Amino acid sequence: MGSKRSEELYERAKQLLPGGVSSPVRAFQPYPRYIAKGKGSRLYDVDGNEYIDYCMAFGPLILGHAHPEVVKAVREQAENGTLYGAPIEAEVKFAETISRLYPSVEMMRFVSSGTEATMHGIRLARGYTGRKKIIKVEGAFHGAHDAVLVKAGSGATTHSAPNSLGIPEEVTHNTVLVPYNDPAAVEKAIRDNKGEIAAMILEPVIGNAGPILPREGYLQELREITRRNDVLLIFDEVITGFRLSIGGAQRYFKVVPDMTIMGKIAGGGLPIGIFGASKEMMSMISPVGKVYQAGTFSGNPLSLAAGQMTIKELERLGHEDLSRKGELMRAGLRQVFDDAKVPAQVQGLSSMFQVFLSDKPVLDYQGALQADGKKFMELFNSLLEQGVYLPPSQYETNFLSTAHTEKDVERTVDAFAQAVAEVFE
Ligand SMILES: *Cc1c(COP(=O)(O)O)cnc(C)c1O
Repeated sequence: MGSKRSEELYERAKQLLPGGVSSPVRAFQPYPRYIAKGKGSRLYDVDGNEYIDYCMAFGPLILGHAHPEVVKAVREQAENGTLYGAPIEAEVKFAETISRLYPSVEMMRFVSSGTEATMHGIRLARGYTGRKKIIKVEGAFHGAHDAVLVKAGSGATTHSAPNSLGIPEEVTHNTVLVPYNDPAAVEKAIRDNKGEIAAMILEPVIGNAGPILPREGYLQELREITRRNDVLLIFDEVITGFRLSIGGAQRYFKVVPDMTIMGKIAGGGLPIGIFGASKEMMSMISPVGKVYQAGTFSGNPLSLAAGQMTIKELERLGHEDLSRKGELMRAGLRQVFDDAKVPAQVQGLSSMFQVFLSDKPVLDYQGALQADGKKFMELFNSLLEQGVYLPPSQYETNFLSTAHTEKDVERTVDAFAQAVAEVFE
């Protein structure tokens, strides 16, 4: 497979963009592929290579690339203008849709990214409780702002910067870390910081260290502990929202948080972030309350159009087929690694999956770090050569979309078998 144009573009990019990219997770060696087009489950690069895509833009594209109805909705909105700096009917309708699917989200604000949503959500939690500290789970990722870039997953881990330079100690001092799947650690963190914790924020299923599932009862226990200690529970459902079920992880696991963060799928492939909670809490947001938040691109008409159409289509399709394809994939991959006698953990849920090159099930960040990230990249490169595009890191999640077919899954499992044979023999 030739990729000369990608290689050339990367050389030019490296002169102008740090690491040649606009977001670190996109960089890999020797050079990333420059994408010309996406359609359904497929990506096409500038050299004309075709890939079955499991990165899916790191999660937003649950209907696949360029879904015709979503494209139509965006085009129709664009023809009427892209931004007004004034309210529109679509934001009322979209808020009604979100609140119907997420009853805990009685009120919400639309922003432009998940990063913004967690940043403002945490500010609201602090403003509401009058406390400074937050509890964060190791290896979870909540966007790239100061309070949450402490043992952060995703690109921060892939590129060895889970604790970023440039963040004052005074800020990270207020972020208390706990391992995932460890309720006792949360109890202790609350005890050690008595009266100082505003909220605990977590990804209910970690997606940003690869998929790590909650132990039976973990989320229920967190709900109980935070309620008993008067600490807010924030679910960052930027990945799990609309993916685990139409009502997210909170519906899937039947655990209701105090605040919900959404993004990715909610924007149907366009930029979005949402934070929402009870009417009482959200009434502290400006202009009715004293927690300030604002944004030129907030409630972006194009994002609302794409998001509304995506959710409508997803509701129509349901999640059963997505989950079935996820199970098919996980079963197929387990067979591949078993047959090759290569120790690996195939983890995931519904349309999320990943192979951890580890001999033990991965239950938390430390477990994920023990997986062989270097060997994983060899697998990744072999798959890429075979036309299968994964997110370029052991510490990310692969995503299926409704556009992926059973045949795509079969081809992918075969490509993995070939990759395992190449890398481990
Ligand atoms: C992607 C992600 C974010 C950040 O969203 P952006 O839109 O990239 O700013 C926050 N939280 C989680 C769980 C994410 O996966």
